[in-house]
Amino acid sequence: MQDAIILGGGISGLTAGYLAQKEGLDVSVIEKRTEPGGPISTHKEGDYLVERGPNSLLLPEPWVESFIAELGLTNQLQETKPIASKRYIIKNGRPVPVPTSPLQAITTPLFSFVGKLGFLLEPFRKQISNRAGATETVADFVSRRMGRDFLDYAIDPFVSGVYAGDPHKLILEHAFPIMRSFEREGGSIIRGAIKHKKKQKREGTAYKKRSISFKEGLGILPKTLARKLGNRLWLDSEVVAVNRIDNAWQVTWKRDGENFEGFAKKLVVCLPSHAIKRIAWSEAIAPPLKASPNLEYPAVHSLALGFKREQIPHLLDGFGMLVPSKESPTILGALFSSSLYDGRAPEGHCLLTVMIGGIRRPDLAALSKEKLEEIALNDLRNLVGLEGSPTFSHCSSWPRAIPQYTQNFSPWKETLKSLELEFPGLHFGGNCVDGIAMGSSILSGKRIAACLSTNT
Ligand SMILES: Cc1cc2nc3c(=O)[nH]c(=O)nc-3n(C[C@H](O)[C@H](O)[C@H](O)COP(=O)(O)OP(=O)(O)OC[C@H]3O[C@@H](n4cnc5c(N)ncnc54)[C@H](O)[C@@H]3O)c2cc1C
Repeated sequence: MQDAIILGGGISGLTAGYLAQKEGLDVSVIEKRTEPGGPISTHKEGDYLVERGPNSLLLPEPWVESFIAELGLTNQLQETKPIASKRYIIKNGRPVPVPTSPLQAITTPLFSFVGKLGFLLEPFRKQISNRAGATETVADFVSRRMGRDFLDYAIDPFVSGVYAGDPHKLILEHAFPIMRSFEREGGSIIRGAIKHKKKQKREGTAYKKRSISFKEGLGILPKTLARKLGNRLWLDSEVVAVNRIDNAWQVTWKRDGENFEGFAKKLVVCLPSHAIKRIAWSEAIAPPLKASPNLEYPAVHSLALGFKREQIPHLLDGFGMLVPSKESPTILGALFSSSLYDGRAPEGHCLLTVMIGGIRRPDLAALSKEKLEEIALNDLRNLVGLEGSPTFSHCSSWPRAIPQYTQNFSPWKETLKSLELEFPGLHFGGNCVDGIAMGSSILSGKRIAACLSTNT
């Protein structure tokens, strides 16, 4: 019998598997798709390097950097280019830079005079009770503390860029726990953030988070982990049933139409919530999972478009641009991919990655590549002055892209927690539990590997 079987070969399951194996444990990772890494996947075509899913890994803490070094990927590491430090938000149909200094904050056309005043008054606004705060949406929180303008032209596009979600539905406590803790501990976001920074300085834990990628793209990370796992990673293998027999876990998966079985002392589940619910679980586990609410996963299309540089008059001097839901363009935003990292487009060309769909536009989920391209090109003509047609195009569609931490998230997480308590050795991780950023899923894998190598 194995020490553990890990369901799901996304970055969380792969990280957990690799770290547990390094501790000498006998583990297997079972992944449904033919490639490891979930949405983390890079496509190379000529001199274009396209990220099919995530484009950047925001390093959440120093450990992730040492993890990358341990995997031998330091020489592959790419920092974002200095030009990418600017970010744009669309206002009145034009990309407007996000202010990065107090002077810019005063003069920016992004917010109205009243909006700017709302921001300045934030430290003096009253807190609400912890109880009310626990279920407050991102939109209610931001309107209450910073005013409507800040919600519409800062948070709404930001939420679209991160979650492809709706700030009126996401619960702050789950979606952006740090913002909630700032208010709880500092009485205000601004005071809380200052207090937090001072504390980190005092304790020597200050760390400047930064976005990175790799010369061969982010896909090299899951590929490297997969190589380390060797024949302990089962690809093209869909888990269909899990049974608890005496003190062991029996896992059944399908590969090439054939059923395979494995037995392990511990079971790790790093699957999306809808995949967890689809599995045939043994009697004691199935009812609470069935009864718990669904998490919503909106569809997102990631359309990579290449152009001759002179086709776009805009400087493309930034990370990209985000579209607030109040504005008329259809796209959620576009990353200026070739401004972000070197080696994304051939000499004299540029690469833009346009995101379409999300919670905002479920009606676009099933659109053809041609239609999506039409929408993207039309918006790019208006927003950055694009002329002519793309010289390169690649579309990746994610029908269930990112879990939404709405009011259903709390009961869902409670269900998983109570199952973990009832069945020692059962662990849930990944982005339907521990945060939706790639960095959070890596840390989720680390957390689970630590549980596997101790007696929990
Ligand atoms: C388009 C897009 C853009 C993104 N951009 C960014 C970004 O720029 N930066 C960032 O930090 N994050 C980004 N994210 C989010 C981030 O990529 C994910 O949250 C993270 O990779 C999730 O990893 P995970 O291991 O938790 O889950 P997943 O990667 O979803 O892993 C779950 C795995 O389980 C497998 N599976 C499902 N059912 C079964 C079954 N029955 N049996 C076996 N295996 C099964 C799936 O195939 C999948 O590989 C983006 C996501 C998407 C979709």
